[in-house]
Amino acid sequence: MKYSELAGIYESLEKTSKRLEKTFIISKFLKKTKEDDIDKIVLMLQGRLFPLWDETKIGVSNRLVIKAISAATGASPAKVEDEWKKIGDLGLVAEKLVEKKSQATLFSRELTAEKVFDNLRKLPLQEGAGSVDLKVKMIAELLSSAKPLEARYVVRTVLEDLRIGVGTGSMRDALVWAFFGDKVKINYNHEDKSINPDNREEYNRLTEAVQHAFDLKADYGEVAKMIIRKGEKAFGELTMEPGSPINVMLYPKAKDLADAFETVGKPCAIEFKYDGFRMQIHKKAGKDGEIKIFTRRLDEVTKQFPEVIEYVKDFVHAKEFIIDSEAVGYEPKTGKYLPFQAISQRIKRKYDIDKMSREFPVEVNVFDIILFEGRNLLNIPFIERRKIIEKIIKPHPKKLILAKQIITDSLKEAEKFYKEALSMGEEGVMAKNLQGIYKPGSRVGYGVKVKPVMESLDLVIVGAEWGTGKRSGWLTSFVLACRKGDKFLEIGKVGTGVKELEEEGVSFEELTKLLKPLIISEEGKVARIKPKIIIEINYEEIQKSPSYSSGYALRFPRFVRLREDKALSDISDLDLVEELYLQQFDSKK
Ligand code: AMP
Repeated sequence: MKYSELAGIYESLEKTSKRLEKTFIISKFLKKTKEDDIDKIVLMLQGRLFPLWDETKIGVSNRLVIKAISAATGASPAKVEDEWKKIGDLGLVAEKLVEKKSQATLFSRELTAEKVFDNLRKLPLQEGAGSVDLKVKMIAELLSSAKPLEARYVVRTVLEDLRIGVGTGSMRDALVWAFFGDKVKINYNHEDKSINPDNREEYNRLTEAVQHAFDLKADYGEVAKMIIRKGEKAFGELTMEPGSPINVMLYPKAKDLADAFETVGKPCAIEFKYDGFRMQIHKKAGKDGEIKIFTRRLDEVTKQFPEVIEYVKDFVHAKEFIIDSEAVGYEPKTGKYLPFQAISQRIKRKYDIDKMSREFPVEVNVFDIILFEGRNLLNIPFIERRKIIEKIIKPHPKKLILAKQIITDSLKEAEKFYKEALSMGEEGVMAKNLQGIYKPGSRVGYGVKVKPVMESLDLVIVGAEWGTGKRSGWLTSFVLACRKGDKFLEIGKVGTGVKELEEEGVSFEELTKLLKPLIISEEGKVARIKPKIIIEINYEEIQKSPSYSSGYALRFPRFVRLREDKALSDISDLDLVEELYLQQFDSKK
């Protein structure tokens, strides 16, 4: 396929913000895509070169791309950088400079989608001396043959920031429309952008089947290829295999324990909610019984956790399985559990792994199983799955244990257990429906989490960043500060919680209007702002951080509301932040 065709589709997708219209555009395009190209095209439409479960990152910096644009267009790196400052998007910069150059020269070759895909996938393989120059050359080669629009998307793909807004939901629906649209007679109404399948039931069934295929394969490219080859038969042949990761089940939040009982039913299982990170652990049957570990985002982290491999070999007595667990770090000397932040560095670590595993060991808390001795357990009730892990696991504290659990229908008992969890330093509890099946990738409510809400902070905005793409013209990321005496100390940035549409609440536009007159100075896309606008912020945790002048940062900050009622002297001060930070530890063991 010519890359220009794909670039044309990217452009139409970028032009609309309507999800159904995007789905329609993609489905039409997939219909005419050939079997040989389909897996690549589906990935590229999502701005990816590797499937979700593949941990490979393209890993190319803005600097390197600037060099490549310069090499391909003859513009000096300073000129490219200058344009970047003005336009704010290296994709558009490449487009502009290629356009300029192309007025003088003719295109040498026509780019194919395959060529772009193959060339870019080679980028992460370049390592060691000379690799930077080689990468610049590889990207420049593509840009030299690219037409202006193609250059825009080559650059954005390299930077893993395609900005066309195609989510996994749109891709799933597009596959259904493309390959089963005739069967269920999809009618897409261009006027009001609605769809009306003649056979809604059949449409829903197929949508679920495609979603399920994705849950198991974590790659719509592969799913599309299977469907083109075998049609609906493909769904029947889907098997779960140890070694290829599966999207994990997610849990919505309950307000409190009573609310949790309401959602999951009584009696239910209540478990400690451990504060670490998700580990999906696979073991293959066979002589060498290969073990692999994946994170919640399906990145493989087997090499980073050699001690876990040993625990699994020693304490999980089964030949083949996929188990779901939470790994929690602890201090080796005292045994005291540590917040997630303390061990998060282990996930990406590539060297000194053994030393790291001694300094920051983890305890694996197993809470579910989804495959056991060749048997798919997704549709088995949770209580049965739990029985299997109880049977095959020999718990060893500080190494590998079962998630602590009670089964109860009493709110009083549940509350006691919740208190115990908090006093042990856990994050809260999970409540789980005993009959619930395992729904990969969804937040269906067979289990819910209950955890205390941290006291919110009132902070003042002291900086902001201008948005790009759809959000250009708005300030979109806001630098927050707390108070120390009459000084303001930065403590993080927030964008989440502010709305794009005015009808939904406080919008970027509204905040931009409030902040624009307060801009003191600007450098590139970043503006310094006179402290005046006070906002309330929720967050999940306070962490120590050298990046901000307060010495602290907020994990998952979220805008709650404007606090026009507060004065600068009322905003949260550093002492409060410190106190809240320490409180988090008081409850840890
Ligand atoms: P959250 O990250 O706040 O959405 O909470 C859900 C996460 O809690 C899961 O993805 C797991 O990583 C983690 N977790 C800790 N303990 C458990 C447990 N007993 N059952 C299920 N998930 C747990």
